[in-house]
Amino acid sequence: MKTGKHSSDKKDTILTISEALDIIKNNIPEILTEVVSLEESIGKYLAKDILAPEPSPRYTNSAMDGYALRWQDVLNASPDSPALLQLVGESQAGMQFEGTVSPGQAVRISTGAVLAPGCDTVVRVEDTKEENGTVHIYNVRSLGQDVRFKGEEFTTGETLLTRGLRLTAARAALLAGVGVETVAVCKPCKVAILVTGSELVSVGEKIADDQIRDSNMIMLEAAVREAGGKVVRCIRIEDEAKATYQAIAETDADIILCTGGVSVGRHDHVKNAATENGYTPLFWRIRQKPGKPLYFARKGKTLLFGLPGNPVSAFMCYNHYVRPLITALNGLSFGWPMVPGELLDDISNNGKRPNMIRVELKWRPNRGHSITHAAKQGSHMLTSLAHADGYIILEPGQSVKKGDRIDVYRYDFMREPV
Ligand code: AMP
Ligand code: MG
Repeated sequence: MKTGKHSSDKKDTILTISEALDIIKNNIPEILTEVVSLEESIGKYLAKDILAPEPSPRYTNSAMDGYALRWQDVLNASPDSPALLQLVGESQAGMQFEGTVSPGQAVRISTGAVLAPGCDTVVRVEDTKEENGTVHIYNVRSLGQDVRFKGEEFTTGETLLTRGLRLTAARAALLAGVGVETVAVCKPCKVAILVTGSELVSVGEKIADDQIRDSNMIMLEAAVREAGGKVVRCIRIEDEAKATYQAIAETDADIILCTGGVSVGRHDHVKNAATENGYTPLFWRIRQKPGKPLYFARKGKTLLFGLPGNPVSAFMCYNHYVRPLITALNGLSFGWPMVPGELLDDISNNGKRPNMIRVELKWRPNRGHSITHAAKQGSHMLTSLAHADGYIILEPGQSVKKGDRIDVYRYDFMREPV
């Protein structure tokens, strides 16, 4: 292993949030696509529009259990003067009537069954009586009532789903219904999570007085999945130069997320381990709170982020810098779901760096969202995240007042513009 100064030490620059975002945007790898089965497509993003290969409904059918008949035969029917028709057969779902219905005739029909040739109208069973091969029709409304016409929902070639939509249960059902078996999706980027810290133990492990439970692994694993990335590796590393070097060397991923070990402490090895592995540092440190020590480097197509160790800082850096990258690799814009809201608190940034302040949103009918913020905003305080719906960014010296409207970067997943 080579030793030496990592080049990020030489550049003692500290970037603004937008400079850091620009560097990431300039390093977005090419979007890859793949064709997968409907089962595998759930949660992934469509790489292409999907056109209807057939119309819906595929054939004209009944919306009700009842009788299929000709409107001309029943248009004057009423409870006092029912129309009487000869029953000539039945059209069941999956077993259509083999024949043509002539004037004065009707067939029994079930919901979804093919409308028998010759018929143009369905009368539901509640408005009829069947007796000795004769059907009595008591109530009718209009020509074509309770008929679902071929192609009335969509015709062949119409666009069913557009590029960039995430495959959901309902969208998969729509595709299955028209016989679409496979879809082209953006290939989820492979993300590895390398958690550093000799003080860490896993949840459930016995813990000594001076140890800390690892919150970052589950947090990032869940967040990456939610954004549409594929977690391919999750490991914990001791604060040891060789182990950190080795872990990065062994990792095959599109994006490597390290947490911890990225500051200036004697036990912080991530930056060195990255450069020794051949990564080029693209930035280290951003003028922001929390998450100042964020590190970003690249080797070929692999991007490496050194997220801070504090879980809140790690999550904020993930959400502001990594998550938009994952969504961009799924064919969406590089950005965040935003929502405006009305502040119910006064909030000031008295610090020297732009502050990302976690806030809670509440939907108020007719008045939009209200915004409040947790008093305890420490970067080690996970409650400030767990109860937050998003965050606002205030510049140094900026104050916002109760009643002001402000845009919130939301954590939760919403549909984003393509
Ligand atoms: P570091 O950036 O490695 O100096 O870590 C900063 C702080 O975050 C220290 O108090 C760590 O113990 C804590 N920390 C680091 N990694 C984790 C983790 N995975 N889960 C919880 N706390 C962590
Ligand atoms: Mg550490």
